[in-house]
Amino acid sequence: MTKRKTFSIRFDPQGEQPSGRSGRTVLVAGGAGFIGSNLIRRLLDHGDRVICVDNLSTGRFENIGTLVTHPRFGWIQHDVIEPFTVAGPIDRIYNLACPASPPKYQADPVHTFKTSVLGAMNLLELAEAKRARILQSSTSEVYGDPDCSPQPESYRGNVNTVGPRSCYDEGKRAAETLFYESHRTRRVDIRIARIFNTYGPRMDPEDGRVVSNFIVQAISGAPLTVYGDGTQTRSFCYVSDMVDALQMLMEAPEATQAIYAPVNLGNPGEFTMLELAQMVLELTGARGPLVHLPLPKDDPLQRRPDITRAHNLLGWAPKVALREGLLPTIAYFRQELLAQQRISAG
Ligand code: NAD
Ligand code: UDP
Repeated sequence: MTKRKTFSIRFDPQGEQPSGRSGRTVLVAGGAGFIGSNLIRRLLDHGDRVICVDNLSTGRFENIGTLVTHPRFGWIQHDVIEPFTVAGPIDRIYNLACPASPPKYQADPVHTFKTSVLGAMNLLELAEAKRARILQSSTSEVYGDPDCSPQPESYRGNVNTVGPRSCYDEGKRAAETLFYESHRTRRVDIRIARIFNTYGPRMDPEDGRVVSNFIVQAISGAPLTVYGDGTQTRSFCYVSDMVDALQMLMEAPEATQAIYAPVNLGNPGEFTMLELAQMVLELTGARGPLVHLPLPKDDPLQRRPDITRAHNLLGWAPKVALREGLLPTIAYFRQELLAQQRISAG
């Protein structure tokens, strides 16, 4: 049996907020990634102490580098497939640890599957030991290539168990089961967010997802790579809306049993990849061209969240339209590329 590692974090008492502010300790697994690093800034602004646990496989130290001197921030480099604990109290755990981009999660499929399953088990054990509330970042991929639109939480999905996306989809489905059973049989206080495609600042320019690919290609004058004929659809949520939703779900009171069931979080605005490419060209002032590459196997042809449950339970709905959210995202990627050019020019 693998030995459980124990980590200790020493927060600087000078950083404590005046009374009335949060005073809570929140652990974010996967906090050096895109969504996690946006969430951590929000938690620190709220007055929380934050512990980021990440193995830096797809996350970037740059995303959290400026925070390491923050008096209420602690950093642990660790792979969540290995059991671990952290000395002292923990009130909330966000489990965001898992590669999310198809080329990244397909690079080491067994490790991706272990991350979802063993990572969930280790974090659920930690939550139980600390009596912490724990939120799982599940995904719209639990619906696979859906044969209904929009997808409500009651839809059970159309997932291939033996395809290139299975390591991610089935790992996330198994993690939902682990969360559900930990709640049902051990009373662990859980939340399950089914996240739909999310984009915004702090995405890795080399991540391989469609929004980062199209924007980086447009601003560097390269052709935009449209997979297949580009008529497949996705619904894109801006990261500030997603962080709002994750926090609202985490903090929603246990008024009804429904709070323990999965909740779709995403923006219902649905776009074809051709429409997204045209919008990116227009907003960047680039000319293209578009090149068509083969559609990857099992690539879902349509995706759109039914967010009725999130609206009823949390009073949440996204505020940022795609066109509006692309502008700061484009500005962020321009800065990233400039910084990279400066580094390579020495
Ligand atoms: P990301 O790849 O930017 O971030 C994931 C983070 O987890 C990275 O920092 C990575 O280094 C870390 N990580 C991966 N495996 C780990 C392991 N074994 N141990 C410790 N850390 C590990 O992805 P993201 O877009 O920020 O996604 C965050 C979470 O949200 C993921 O769980 C993902 O499945 C889920 N999600 C994201 C989207 C989206 O569109 N962004 C959609 C659905 C679900
Ligand atoms: N896609 C594309 N060009 C790219 C990257 C992706 O046309 O350079 C397509 C991909 O085939 C899929 C959609 O964009 O249909 C969303 O892909 P992404 O990898 O961002 O996320 P996911 O497939 O996991 O929703």
